[in-house]
Amino acid sequence: MGFVYYILPDGREAGYGVEAECDDPECHRRIDRGRGYLCGHNPLGSKEDDEAGCGNYFCHRHLPDHRCPLPECGVRCDDELPCSLVAGHHRPHRNTVARPGRRPRRRAPPGHP
Ligand SMILES: [Zn+2]
Ligand SMILES: [Zn+2]
Ligand SMILES: [Zn+2]
Repeated sequence: MGFVYYILPDGREAGYGVEAECDDPECHRRIDRGRGYLCGHNPLGSKEDDEAGCGNYFCHRHLPDHRCPLPECGVRCDDELPCSLVAGHHRPHRNTVARPGRRPRRRAPPGHP
């Protein structure tokens, strides 16, 4: 399925066909509301409690730097990809961008029970 245009649960328009400004209040850079600018991983805004991302859209300068209330953990986990759960989460590190269907190996977390 494509995400050219859709309505977010909060009523905002999104999709890579939707032009918008960076959601940083002082930045007026033109972006679109495609997944490449999304802070988070689920374009429809629904996510599990411990997934990172505030669901706003930022230019490439502000995407990694916008005082996100739900910053990514970022610890390298399986496949050497950074963990995309929210910092301080409780379940094992996991990245949500890995291809579905590949089972992550179970690994005992070091040190902690
Ligand atoms: Zn910006
Ligand atoms: Zn954010
Ligand atoms: Zn993590």
